[in-house]
Formats: sequence, C-alpha cells, structure tokens
Amino acid sequence: MLKFSAVAAHAVPKTPGGLHRRASVPSSPSEFDKHIVRVLRHRVGKDERAAKPHDWYNASIYALRDQIIDAWISSTRRTYESGGKRVYYLSMEFLIGRLLRDALSNMGMTREMEKALAAHGLDLAEIEEYEPDAALGNGGLGRLAACFMESLATLDIPAYGYGIRYVNGMFRQRIDDGWQVELPETWLAHGNPWEFERLESTYRIGFGGEVDVENEVAVWHPAEQVEATAVDTPVVGWRGKRVNTLRLWTASALDPLKLDAFNAGDHFGALSEQVRADSLVRVLYPADSNAAGQELRLRQEYFFTAASVQDIVRRHMQYEGDIHTLPEKAAIQLNDTHPSVAVAELMRLLVDIHQLEFEDAWDICKRTVSYTNHTLLPEALETWPLPLFERLLPRHMQIIYAINSRILREARKAGCDDAQIAAISLIDETGERRVRMANLAFVGAHSVNGVAALHTELMKETVFTDLHRLYPARINNKTNGVTPRRWLQQCNPGLTKVIRDAIGEDFLDDAARLSDLNALAADAELGERIAEVKHANKVALVGHIKATMGLRLNPYAMFDVQIKRIHEYKRQLLNLIETVALYDQIRSHPERDWVPRVKIFAGKAASSYHNAKLVIKLANDIARRVNNDPTVGGLLKVVFVPNYNVSLAEKIIPAADLSEQISTAGMEASGTGNMKFALNGALTIGTLDGANVEIKEHVGDENIVIFGLTAEEVAQRRAGGYVPREVIEGSRELSQALSMIASGVFSPDDPNRYAGLVGGIFDHDWFMCAADFESYSAAQRQVDAKWANKSLWRESTIRNIANVGWFSSDRTIGEYAKDIWKVL
Ligand SMILES: *Cc1c(COP(=O)(O)O)cnc(C)c1O
Repeated sequence: MLKFSAVAAHAVPKTPGGLHRRASVPSSPSEFDKHIVRVLRHRVGKDERAAKPHDWYNASIYALRDQIIDAWISSTRRTYESGGKRVYYLSMEFLIGRLLRDALSNMGMTREMEKALAAHGLDLAEIEEYEPDAALGNGGLGRLAACFMESLATLDIPAYGYGIRYVNGMFRQRIDDGWQVELPETWLAHGNPWEFERLESTYRIGFGGEVDVENEVAVWHPAEQVEATAVDTPVVGWRGKRVNTLRLWTASALDPLKLDAFNAGDHFGALSEQVRADSLVRVLYPADSNAAGQELRLRQEYFFTAASVQDIVRRHMQYEGDIHTLPEKAAIQLNDTHPSVAVAELMRLLVDIHQLEFEDAWDICKRTVSYTNHTLLPEALETWPLPLFERLLPRHMQIIYAINSRILREARKAGCDDAQIAAISLIDETGERRVRMANLAFVGAHSVNGVAALHTELMKETVFTDLHRLYPARINNKTNGVTPRRWLQQCNPGLTKVIRDAIGEDFLDDAARLSDLNALAADAELGERIAEVKHANKVALVGHIKATMGLRLNPYAMFDVQIKRIHEYKRQLLNLIETVALYDQIRSHPERDWVPRVKIFAGKAASSYHNAKLVIKLANDIARRVNNDPTVGGLLKVVFVPNYNVSLAEKIIPAADLSEQISTAGMEASGTGNMKFALNGALTIGTLDGANVEIKEHVGDENIVIFGLTAEEVAQRRAGGYVPREVIEGSRELSQALSMIASGVFSPDDPNRYAGLVGGIFDHDWFMCAADFESYSAAQRQVDAKWANKSLWRESTIRNIANVGWFSSDRTIGEYAKDIWKVL
C-alpha cells in the first residue's frame, strides 16, 4: 500500500502567523499535496490556478480514495485468503451522511489533508461543506445501519451492507411560513466521487408471471424483469484497519430503449421500461414507523433483497462450491422486516435452482438468517395484501404457504390452540388476508433480537407472544449503540481533546475506557474545560443559525434540544405544551429567577402524517410569538431548524445542554439520539423508555432526570378507562396551556388550526401527554435547579460522558458477532 509520509507534510514551512499561505511562501509540497494536484489535473481536469473549491473538493476525495482503495483491496484479499465467514447486513436504509471527514479521520489523514489544502489557501472545514448528505434513510433505523457498518470495519469483521442507491433518497425539508414543504434531495446532482459501479455484478430480478412445474422442479416465468447492478462505496474502519463494502443496487431495464417504437414516433412509450426501472430506485418512502402500503414499496423490498441474496449465493458458490456450507460462511442479518422476503428468496434459490430438499433448504435458511425487530407499533408491522403479494411474487407465495404448513403443524404438535395458531400463522386471516412479514422473518431466522432490554421484553409479551412460546430460545437482546468516531471524535474535536488531555488516548480505541473520567468527575478544572468546549460549540451553532435562519440566540442560555423524526409517540407536542406553560409562567412571574432557555427542535414528518406536520407548524407558530415577545426577552427562545439530517445532528448535538427523550413509555424501541447526546455531555430528561432505561443504569440516577409513567403504567392506564379530561381539569397550568393553543393565541390567522390536535388530547390522549404533563413540568424545574448549581451540573456532565462508552456500536456489534453470527 502506498503510504504518504507525514514527515513531509510537517516540512511545509509556516508563515509567521502560523497559517499556510499559497505561492508567497516557497515550500516543498508534501507527497500527498503533490498527489492531490496530480488528481486535480488528471482526473478532475483542472489547472490548480483555475480550480474552484468544488474542484478541490473532488480532488481531495479522489486523492484520499486512492489510499482507501489500497486498504480495501487488501481487506478483501485477506478475507478471501482466510476463508472466514462474511456478515451481510440487509437494510432498506443507510443514513450515512457525509463521508469525507469520517474517512479522513479513520485513515488518520486529517492533518495531512488540512496541510495539503492549506498550502493552496483552502480550509478543510469549508471544503467539507461541499459534500452533500447521503440521506438514504428516515432516521434511527438507517443511522443504526450506518454506525454498524463503521463498527464492523473497526472490529475487522468482513461485512457487506446491502441496500438501495436511491437517486433522491429522503426528501429535503424546507419550512415555508411554518409549514413543512418536501423537496427532492438531489445528492447525486454533481456525481458521487465515493462510488464504484460494478457492471459485472448485475442480476435479473423478476416480478409477476406464472410458476410451472418441469421435471418436478418449480420454474418461475416472471412477466417482467429488471436488472439490478451493484454500486459499491468503501466503509473505512477506525485506524483504517479494514475497509468493507456498502453495496447499493441501482435498476435498469433489460431493454432501456425500444428503438422500433421510438422510430415509429412513440417517444415516451419507447422509454417506458426504463422509467419503470428508475421508479424502483427513485425515492425512499418517508415513513419510519408506518408501513407504506404502496405496491412500489413491496417491489423495492423484493428488488434489493433478491439482488443481495443472489449476490451472496453467487459469491459463496464461487469461493466454496458447495451450497451446504452456506451457514458456515455467510450470516445474513435482516434490519427490520423490510428485507424479510429474503427468507422466501433464499428458499427459492436453494430449492428451485440448487434443487435441495425442502427440509435441507429450510435448515440452511434458518442457520444463515437472523432478524432484528425495531418496533412494536401495530401500524408499523409490515403486512401485504395476499392478492398483491401473490400477483407480484407467485413462486414466493407458494414457498410461504409451504413454510406455513410446516410451522403450523409444529405448533399444533406443541399443543397450540386455534387462537395461538392464528397468531403464529404467516397469513393474517382476520379481515382481508395479508402476508405477515414479521412472522416470516421470525420463523426463517435462528435469532430474533430486540434493540434495548425493555423493548426485547415487550416483544416477548406483545407482538411475538405465541411465536416466543413456540420458540423460546430465539428472542434475544442487542441494545443499540452509536459509533464514537462520528458521534464524539469527529463531531466534537474540542471535547475529544479535553478528554485526551485528562485520561490519555485509550478511549479512542475502546469507548468503555471513558470511565477513567469518573475519577475526575469532581475535578473543577476538568469541569471548566468541558464547559468551555460546550460554550464554543454553542457559539458555533449560534453562528450557523444566525447565518441560515437570521435568528440571534444567546449562547449562555441552556440549549434544550429535541431533534428526531416528528412522531406523536416521540411527543414533541408534550415539549411544546410545556414550552407554552413556561412562557405563560415567565410572563406571570417575571420576578422569579428563570433559567434562560433556548428550545431547539428539528425533524422531518412523513409527508402523509397530518398531525406530525401540524406539530411542525405549531413549533414555528410558537417560535414566532415567543421570540417576538419582549416581556420574556432573553429568557425563552424557540427555534425549529429545517432539514434535520446527519450533518445537522453533528452540529447541534455537541452544543446541547439538555437532551429531550420523552417518548410515551413502551413506544420507543431504543433510540440512539439519546446516546449521542449523553456522549457529548448533555443531561437527559426522559421517560423510562427504550435505551433511556439502560442509560439511567449506566450514568446513575443523580445524573439523569426521569419522569412520567412507566411502560407498565401506560398499559394499565389505557386498559383501565383513562379519562384525560379529568387530568387536564386537575392541572391549572396544563389547561391554560392547552386552551391558549386551542383558542388560536399562536395562530391568530387561523384560530382553529390546533383545535383538532388539542381535541385529541381531551378525547383519548393516546400518547399520554396529559397524563405525563405535571411530572414532566416538575422534572423541568428540577433541571433548572440543577443548572443553577454550576458545579453539580458539570459533575453530571462528566458522569454522563464517562459512563456511556458502553453504548458504542463496537460493543453492540461485538455482541452480534459472538452471539448471532459466530464470527468473533
Ligand atoms: C441519531 C439520529 C436519529 C435517531 O434519533 P432518535 O432520537 O433516536 O430518534 C435520527 N436521525 C438522525 C439524522 C440521527 O443522526
């Protein structure tokens, strides 16, 4: 592997001011600098004197990429030579964000790049801003897949991520007059210097048609076919140990242009097949916990899953030559049910193409596949109308029936009654018949995991009660994690340096070593240094918000942050109601010592989710009113930052003082935002939900503020005739806040705008906003009291950073590797 010497880079002379200046200082450019200039000329086609920043951006990535490719090739060779098992992570979403800073940092080349660019008068931080966010995900599930890919490479585990190369990905959010407007994300408009198209890895994917039996073998004759072609992106692990592959599929028609039709004047008809193929990879359905019912969504799922499974089996046969050893050489992890048709597709390949007996195939399938469940929300559990599924995938439907008959006979033998059989069946027979993708994934996998301890227990008690009783060893827990490279080192270099000065470098390779900070939790100097970094991060965020939104914020105020998908169960509405109550209190009691707060919101709402979009409008309506009210002046500001994505998270999280993790207990499977905030020294205000429960255990009760009903209490209240109206009438603050919102105080242009939203709380309050309000409000005043005691707050900050190293995705992936994939 080519290695550019860091020594040469250090030899660049500095001007007296310490800054590198172009031309005026004669300097001997580093090898890496020379490489960038060569790349700029020969690959970008620009003279360094004429090059624009965007040209330098491309040249920087190409030059870095050359280094990465060497490591990539040697990683691939190493895997091949060792004959080890490969992990395949199938996910509809990979929310990877920008890659330049991540790749530089993991390759250990940040300084070299900074110096090389500085020699041309360029600032790396500015060049980084030219990179579009690869927004190929909705939220937590997609970001988890991205963190996992980085940890797999870091732990030196041979792995491929498989997904879709969406041309437009997740929509870009603009806020017009307070309302969300969805625009296509054009992340590929200027090309993508990270990717490699692999034309040789192309597979035919069929839809529809008929199934015949020829010589006792089923033969599927699809009515339509498209081609899936691999596009690879390298994923660099920490310290460049290993580079793995993110393989995303793109679609094309077998016959992209029907020339006869075109020449006959049917210009559009001639292109129609290509348009159909394009539609498969055009957009990501913007719904993370709400099954999109569209046929196109099922087509997308089958398209990428079939291409991936075919690629996995092809690679196995090429290297091993024996299909029976697949489970020893391949572990296929299904990220939620979106790829669960993999079970049927793998069975089809084993039975129809490799002509195994059904029993043998079923054994191989189960030993190869494992499944991660991400949600208990009934509306988010994927099911497909049986006629649709059968029309699109007739052979898979037969296979699913065959699996089902096996499973149901097993269940009957084990003593299940009719109700239990009905719950276990792969076909939902209540009402319109539907195919249950979660049940298919469950029975086709040897491991079914939840993503936090509480969620895993609830899985056993709710969605999978009967399947769990039948297969009691299958469900296990793997609490989520986040990569500390992106979510600490890269997004918060200031804090990283302070930690390094305090406890040395071990935590960079093992986040659990952050616990060395515990010995310094009461150290005033460390507290002061961390507070200085937080302040600097807040000043930077204030600058960003001023520049992009024109709003001026006070960096000395507490930054109270809730950034995540907008969803009723996440309860941005509870936060907004409390904000209104606080606004009211500040105006009524101006003599009290209020802690100045900036309430920061960000997040996208699914385009068809009416109430979520209304919550965005409400946040903006409240912001306009509060921010322009001189009587609360410096004490309260509200801001909704548009277009939440990974890059925005990387700016906001290091600047947060308080992390809002306030979902209705039992509804957030894990959350990962909660982990990122704690790692960056924010205190959490939250419910006992998802991973908050485990964060509390790690940081200690004194260093987190917990409020509200538990999951069990929520279930009890719902079962036992909860009357929200009584709760509201019993709380002066709550009824006043709700009546302000409902009566149009924040929406004088349309006083009825929020009548329905508030009406829902009075009527049923499904998400328990009223039930939790008093407890939440009291918890906020507890936060105020803690903030007022500076040394106490600082100590809690250190305790949070010190004790959340466990939530590194390296730990999570280590558990998957040992318990599920058997690769460590
Ligand atoms: C971490 C992250 C999420 C998940 O946030 P939660 O608070 O766990 O819902 C969503 N989107 C982005 C961009 C993230 O970085």
